[in-house]
Amino acid sequence: MRPSREIQLASRPLGMPDPADFALVEVSVPEPTDGEVLIRNAYISVDPYMRGRMNDAKSYVPPFVLGEVMTGGAVGRVVASRNERFEEGAWVVHNLGWRELALSDGMGLPFDATAAPVSTGLGVLGMPGLTAYVGLLDVGRVEAGETLYVSGAAGAVGSAVGQIAKLKGCRVIGSAGSAEKVAWLKEIGFDEAFDYHDLPVREALGEGIDVYFDNVGGPTLEAALAALRLRGRIVACGAISQYNATEPPAAPQNLFLIVTKRLRMEGFIISDHFDRMPAFLAEVAPWVRDGSVRYRETVVDGIENAPDAFIGLLAGENTGKMLVRVGPDDA
Ligand code: NDP
Repeated sequence: MRPSREIQLASRPLGMPDPADFALVEVSVPEPTDGEVLIRNAYISVDPYMRGRMNDAKSYVPPFVLGEVMTGGAVGRVVASRNERFEEGAWVVHNLGWRELALSDGMGLPFDATAAPVSTGLGVLGMPGLTAYVGLLDVGRVEAGETLYVSGAAGAVGSAVGQIAKLKGCRVIGSAGSAEKVAWLKEIGFDEAFDYHDLPVREALGEGIDVYFDNVGGPTLEAALAALRLRGRIVACGAISQYNATEPPAAPQNLFLIVTKRLRMEGFIISDHFDRMPAFLAEVAPWVRDGSVRYRETVVDGIENAPDAFIGLLAGENTGKMLVRVGPDDA
């Protein structure tokens, strides 16, 4: 048995989660038996979709269970293995969540730590990067010369969306929640970027857009619907403005524009598209290596601070991918 710590869900929040909704618990983790591997996590991921899992509601993933660990993305190193797929010392991206030590039945993807920092396996070269790629290319079917608007643009998904769209020949507009974030978007090549607190979204979209990559929902979606041109598309990726809502949302009020402008709006859930991971890595990993796609990470230290990191993510404290470092990351 080895000592470890994990974060469990203690209560279901109403509105914005509170640190008291989580519990830090000391546990003992057994040594692996046949087929199992023991992983020491370096980083755990805090992701917006986890807010939905904190509610006791039926959705595309089951809710977290009270008194059990918060499962989700994590990357760590194998410290003991009884599984021939994973050697001791190998890095693995897995879904066992907010804990220091994870005993895995062998599920998880090997991560090549010689090619990129292991933290990127949870961000630009992991689930959020894949979300940007599939959303843009498979769902949005963007084409060179089109104008794309992405909300939540300085986040993990949004910053990848904007840069990949640029590399595909689009003109890219992004919105984010602070002047620092807007400055970073301009630095990484967005044609236009604005702080949505300062400028009405419809006004910022000027002459109009061909594709809207929606991370935010609500009034932002309403403004994008108004700005979309004939036969435009909406990639419905997320609606973070509503994840803590305690009342049903009022907007958008102009959905009939989908009919009059012959728009296409399509949602997607990235776990349906993990078969696209090899194509994504083949195209995007070289861009990350040569600096054509840049990324930032906001790293919080210590598993005890995972709840604050998650709450901070929902409040916009991150630029790029929000991560929690829970162990050594030297490859
Ligand atoms: P981000 O890194 O973008 O972090 C969340 C950001 O949302 C915050 O930094 C904040 O930035 C912004 N935000 C919070 N509240 C609001 C608000 N009321 N209005 C506008 N922006 C707000 O997270 P991810 O990149 O991981 O996720 C982005 C979106 O993609 C989310 O909606 C998520 O649910 C979705 N997603 C969907 C997937 C799918 O399979 N469909 C897979 C992965 C993610 P700011 O300072 O700019 O406000």
